[in-house]
Amino acid sequence: MFVKTPKIIQYLFPSIIWRKENLQNNIWLTFDDGPSPETTPFILKRLKEEKIKATFFLIGKQIERYPELFKKIIDNGHVIANHSYSHQNGWKSNLSNYLNDIEKCQRLMPENKLFRPPYGKLSPLKIWCLKKNYKLILWDIFTWDFHLNSKPKEIKENVLKHTRSGSIIVFHNNKKSLKNLKLILKETITELKEKGFVFSTSW
Ligand SMILES: [Zn+2]
Repeated sequence: MFVKTPKIIQYLFPSIIWRKENLQNNIWLTFDDGPSPETTPFILKRLKEEKIKATFFLIGKQIERYPELFKKIIDNGHVIANHSYSHQNGWKSNLSNYLNDIEKCQRLMPENKLFRPPYGKLSPLKIWCLKKNYKLILWDIFTWDFHLNSKPKEIKENVLKHTRSGSIIVFHNNKKSLKNLKLILKETITELKEKGFVFSTSW
């Protein structure tokens, strides 16, 4: 299981944003999926306590199901972004279905310019079609927070070990990740701050 996205993959897809080089020690905390009634309130509470902002890549279907949570994410000053309407796999679904699915989510957030493909999977053709309208955001640090076999201590240690200036870190805003987030989100944020990192939402 990769925590850190291999350099070769980053070089192979230069139109995707994997990291954001900067001189201010800025890093980007991102949460995928949701809104989720189990997990979103917990994440929002933690981020508020830590006085930091994050970027939420949201699923359109979930936004329609939980509009009050969608509103709460925005009201808390976080950045919302497109993670498709129904979380299709970009290696399996055909081009027009896939683009329509993204468009359907985009109608719920017309100002948005960011897209993150579900599972991080996109074909070169889909990249080419999407990059005209969106900034395509992946990551350099993937936490595996949702995975049954992930040990909370290791999730935290991996993030702290691999994060550097410009890192884009992925946690999950879904039911499966809640158990791990409860154990490590606060400490991970605190220790990243102690290392001098600044949490940015400016893309
Ligand atoms: Zn996802």
